[in-house]
Amino acid sequence: MANIGYIQVVRHCNHFCGFCSNPTTPYTHNFDSMRVLVDDFVRRGYFGVILTGGEPTLHPELPDIARYATDQGLHVRMITNGWRLADRKFAKALGEAGLRLVHVSVYSIKPDVEARLRGLPDTLGRAYAAVDNANEFGIEVNINCVINKLNADHLDLNIRHWIKYHPHIRHFVWNNLDPSMGRAEVNQDQFTPRLADFELSLYRALRMLHKTGRTFRVEKVPLCYMTDFAWASTETRKIVKGEERIVHFLDAKQTVRQTDWEHIYSDSCEVCSLREICGGLFDRGDAYDPAELHPVFIDRDSVVEQIIRDPSDPSYKLRSLAQWRADFERRLDEARARPRRPPGPREEPPPEMRDGLIPVGQITDRGQRLFQAKRRSESRKAERLGVEMESLKHQGQEGS
Ligand code: SF4
Repeated sequence: MANIGYIQVVRHCNHFCGFCSNPTTPYTHNFDSMRVLVDDFVRRGYFGVILTGGEPTLHPELPDIARYATDQGLHVRMITNGWRLADRKFAKALGEAGLRLVHVSVYSIKPDVEARLRGLPDTLGRAYAAVDNANEFGIEVNINCVINKLNADHLDLNIRHWIKYHPHIRHFVWNNLDPSMGRAEVNQDQFTPRLADFELSLYRALRMLHKTGRTFRVEKVPLCYMTDFAWASTETRKIVKGEERIVHFLDAKQTVRQTDWEHIYSDSCEVCSLREICGGLFDRGDAYDPAELHPVFIDRDSVVEQIIRDPSDPSYKLRSLAQWRADFERRLDEARARPRRPPGPREEPPPEMRDGLIPVGQITDRGQRLFQAKRRSESRKAERLGVEMESLKHQGQEGS
């Protein structure tokens, strides 16, 4: 199966998003501490690795670790705000290091909205330069977008822009805002959308992409808010194919191995035809409202077939419905036999998601000093922008 792991290579950033779920910590990586994580993905038979952050391009050894992972046979990707990729020389160096795909994150093509979300002006021009530079140096480009209160009404307008001005981009990823961590947790009123806020603009955006032959994925959106495109839900695809995800967090959480893609459900989910393949409502900050969920009555197997027969994932082998059903029933039986988590809000991550065998990064004296300096400058920015600073509970600095 096409499992892909994540390594947070840094946790600081040159932008200051008010809903950042992975803000600055005192943990740092060097080449050797990243190398063992890459080796672990190789040992597990993973297909690829996503280098992320913070802003990963701020790590001086990023090209070296990209080269190393490529040499070990991994498909190497990166999630970035694009600021440094706007420099052609830097984009070229990453292309030569084997980086195959870059997810450039842009929230809104409206300059004032993007500036508010990014915490600084004039980032859009650099993001546009980044996608064109990456394309020039042979790195495939995807656009990532966090759905939030400020862009919820114009996700389709964003797509219109990308299709018109950057037609080489063929794949788009949306993440509904994760309100459980970092600054997102303490700024929910400003940034967490209601599902109904983005339902229409997301539908229009997906339909536009589908009609023009482009592809997409949507994470943390329940299937009742994307019924025509249920096969594009990240959680549904993972439930259907039985995939896992490992994230090496550069903070006190350390390694999290996620095999359970189900979140929260309402009573109405019990009669929904998609219940068994739906990730439900992403609840972990208690921010979204289960009353917004409504059952749907569409054919589950037609959604499954679109996933298991997807030619873009040749690694998935059970291509007939009968084979898939037998495998899925077996996995459901195993899941039913496991003790259930208690309902309601829970600590992040739950203990069964922890892997914890490999130390992720380290806290050094220098890392501590840089963290304290960064936190002081970010506190001033937060005050200027009218957002709250994140709690320190997962940053390795509890109580400080
Ligand atoms: S009603 Fe529940 S199970 Fe059905 S699509 Fe919505 S969240 Fe999923």
